[in-house]
Amino acid sequence: MSSPLWQAVLGEIELSVSRGNYITWFKNTQLVQHSDELVIIGVPNIFIKQQLEKKFNDVFVETLKKNGITPERIEYKIVAMEPHKIEDDETILTPEEIQTVTLPPKITNNGISQSYRQGLNERYTFDNFIVGAGNELAFAACQSIAANPGKKYNPLLLYGGVGIGKTHLIQAVGNSAKLNNPEAKILYITTEQFVQEFVEALRYRKTNDFATHYRTADMLIVDDIQFIAGKEKIQEEFFHTFNALHQANKQIIISSDRLPKDIPTLEERLQSRFAWGMSIDMQNPDFETRCAIIQIKAQSNNVELPNDVVEYLSTNIHTNVRELEGALNQLLAFCEMRALEPNIDIAISVLGSSRTRPKHLSAKQIIERTAKHFQVPLEDILGPKRDKDIVVPRQIAMYILRSELHLSFPKIARELGRKDHTTAIHSVEKIEKESQLDSSLRTAISEIKERLYA
Ligand code: ADP
Ligand code: MG
Repeated sequence: MSSPLWQAVLGEIELSVSRGNYITWFKNTQLVQHSDELVIIGVPNIFIKQQLEKKFNDVFVETLKKNGITPERIEYKIVAMEPHKIEDDETILTPEEIQTVTLPPKITNNGISQSYRQGLNERYTFDNFIVGAGNELAFAACQSIAANPGKKYNPLLLYGGVGIGKTHLIQAVGNSAKLNNPEAKILYITTEQFVQEFVEALRYRKTNDFATHYRTADMLIVDDIQFIAGKEKIQEEFFHTFNALHQANKQIIISSDRLPKDIPTLEERLQSRFAWGMSIDMQNPDFETRCAIIQIKAQSNNVELPNDVVEYLSTNIHTNVRELEGALNQLLAFCEMRALEPNIDIAISVLGSSRTRPKHLSAKQIIERTAKHFQVPLEDILGPKRDKDIVVPRQIAMYILRSELHLSFPKIARELGRKDHTTAIHSVEKIEKESQLDSSLRTAISEIKERLYA
């Protein structure tokens, strides 16, 4: 059992990062030792250790600080863990996320080649992908590539925020291409797995096997390429893989949470190669598409949902498709266990507590909370100052007023003491766009919301 302090730390982190990130990186950590000088955090493997050191160290620093601990150093140490149990609340994770969590580095005596995966999951098809505003271009490009791999759009890059269907689409390309050509060597791999396998290959002097495996693919699909940031050796390896495949007209498909040029420490030669083909921005689907997604997912569970329930879900869960699916599954499970037909009252009572936005939240609360989060005086946010550290929180407050209270732009402008409502339009659009690309901005917004609804 972990210590109460560590439970508190993890509890806070769980609120501030995405669910996938939490489960993948944080959930299986433990507190090994702490003093004023040093905190030692136990982690299950080298891979998680590296990620925590590189990407999430600040999260620990911040959260420990909130809990009254400000060590001079934080160290990560690989320790034996209790076997990971899959809990009910993890079922909304995609299979590849679960793989990342549960897969310890697996080495057999006859080398690592067996651990290379083809990685395709039949669950992701074009047929069960709902097309609408936000994803139609990506869908069209993916279909065209599946029918004609390596011909145009090479590489294809899909980018956009979490849970909006990138993995689904790129997997669907692989599955469809495989149906067309069962002999083809079609490889899907997450960047984390690529990194992990490469590290193992280095350790066991099997880099030739590794290189051959990926360079002889007929189609290579690499998910979440942003995780290659800062890993020079792996970028180099990937560069050669890319070149070998591209020269042989083999299709390469990549997904990323942002444009390559916005991935810090991604080598320029890779950035420029990723831009050779076609890059498509994926957005969270609009209201109507979300409704269609819910209806079809319910139908595939043999449930007919009344329209008001569909609209309720689609209105209240507008972050991404993954959350939407999670909420629907929660509702369906609740009804199934009690043999109830889903209706709006049940939906509100099941999802209301955690998901819906209570109506009593005021504009004032939102603005105050945002000011507090960024530690700027309220009167500055409402006043004339144009310094960047005031303007950005002001824009974020406008964005939250719009997304949470659905206020009109003139009203948003008035709430923040602006005369001109085009400022509000501009600000909301800007934050909307930037939050797609900037994960720290997303984190800030979700932190503010969590506090508001806490
Ligand atoms: P991403 O890779 O962008 O984070 P995923 O592809 O994992 O997102 O999508 C999250 C979940 O939502 C998956 O279960 C996926 O099947 C589902 N999903 C996303 N977009 C759609 C869509 N347009 N139609 C049907 N299901 C979708
Ligand atoms: Mg994904």
